[in-house]
Amino acid sequence: MTSAMQAEGLAAVEQEIARACREARRERSSVTLIAVSKTFEADAIAPVLAAGQRVFGENRVQEAKAKWPPLLAEHPGTQLHLIGPLQSNKVKEAVALFDAIHSVDRPSLAEALGKALPASGRAVELFVQVNTGEEPQKAGVAPQEADGFIAACRERWGLTISGLMCIPPVDEAPAPHFAVTAKIAKRNNLTQLSMGMSADFATAIEFGATHVRVGSAIFGHR
Ligand SMILES: *Cc1c(COP(=O)(O)O)cnc(C)c1O
Repeated sequence: MTSAMQAEGLAAVEQEIARACREARRERSSVTLIAVSKTFEADAIAPVLAAGQRVFGENRVQEAKAKWPPLLAEHPGTQLHLIGPLQSNKVKEAVALFDAIHSVDRPSLAEALGKALPASGRAVELFVQVNTGEEPQKAGVAPQEADGFIAACRERWGLTISGLMCIPPVDEAPAPHFAVTAKIAKRNNLTQLSMGMSADFATAIEFGATHVRVGSAIFGHR
């Protein structure tokens, strides 16, 4: 893809977010666009940075560590969000690089974060991933286990949880999954909802998404 195409993709996504916000009677500022740059090299990311986008998502710690430091140095104030699974042995590296982690999904990871975060001195926003479709191949806590896990994150591991993240099953309508995620967030006093990807971010905004994770609609096919 040429840089013009990435800038066009970003502009089209921005326009659609603005439209979805108007329809839902929400402020545009209540939705953060995370441009998901996984698998794309620095030369594909540069035009999106040049267009003013400052929040990016990556799904692998090693990949992000390899390509982002020079880009971050050139564009201070850029935020990186980890949206993929995190192994406990990579937690230290993750909290050093990322501003948010959307994949808190098990006690061992919560425990590791509870140790690594105070030691790092960094403020990292945390999202608990909920496996709303209860798909065996997908990460995340089951909906019926979410309340207990969130409580344990707070009380046992001293974590501040900001919100929830979900990835609806590819072959189902996303709306019920967004609704269930919003409901779990509400009853746990969580204000942030990371939901919606290229195919369904407008629907997610209708259901209260505060963070949409959009990759292919900006960067093209992976
Ligand atoms: C890759 C990925 C996205 C972006 O998906 P697109 O369909 O390309 O927008 C969003 N969220 C997660 C967790 C991802 O892994």
